[in-house]
Amino acid sequence: MEETVCRKEYSIGTKPRGGDRPALIRDDMLKECTASCNPNPFKIVVGPGFILLTPEAIEHQYREIRRIFFAGFDTYEEWKLVPGYSHIYLAGINYNAKAIMYSVDLCGRPILILNEVLIHELCHAELGPGGGDHGKRWRNRMEKAAQVADAIRYVELAQELREDRDLYDPDSDFYEPPMNAATCYEAIRRMVREQPPDWSFEDVMYWVGRDFYEPDDQLIKKFKKCRQVFEKAKMQVRHVASVPDERQG
Ligand SMILES: [Zn+2]
Repeated sequence: MEETVCRKEYSIGTKPRGGDRPALIRDDMLKECTASCNPNPFKIVVGPGFILLTPEAIEHQYREIRRIFFAGFDTYEEWKLVPGYSHIYLAGINYNAKAIMYSVDLCGRPILILNEVLIHELCHAELGPGGGDHGKRWRNRMEKAAQVADAIRYVELAQELREDRDLYDPDSDFYEPPMNAATCYEAIRRMVREQPPDWSFEDVMYWVGRDFYEPDDQLIKKFKKCRQVFEKAKMQVRHVASVPDERQG
């Protein structure tokens, strides 16, 4: 019986690689194999043109990123990666449990995004609870990681990391200020105007939360008038709908 053999074989070692040679999974490693090849431990072939990264691949990438970009962090390996699902976040941190949680969404995203997300979270983790926000210390740590990406000639990643960092830098042109009461209420009004009339308060808050990367229950707790703003916007929409169209009169 003939077997299809990959040009390269990939294995996931548990030992750290020798030297400083990066052994990150790259997109080209995922393209070469087909379903009939020896199983590539980094991916599951779902069907023609569709693959998923395996949890082992995510774990491997995490270890390599920690080794290359965060040498000296968590030498006792107390931190762990925990898969999960969130409709808001791709990843998050639980400092008490020393856990980096990632959404299984990442198993279907490009490697570049996976790398960027892992580095983003590891910057938080290394700084500890005090460095949890996206303040200056965190942004400096992201820059340091971008410089490592420069050094290993991973230009695309260096750029991605700097773009992510700039979203949180008030001096940057790409700064996205955090949501406040006014922007939250405006988002609610817009959502009520633009979405089908049967959308409930919960529907609207779910999507406002998604748009602003903040869970709906936290928004409702933080900004006290969400429901009031929603009800008023609903009434206005109903009122507009009931005004007779002059052109038909
Ligand atoms: Zn963050």
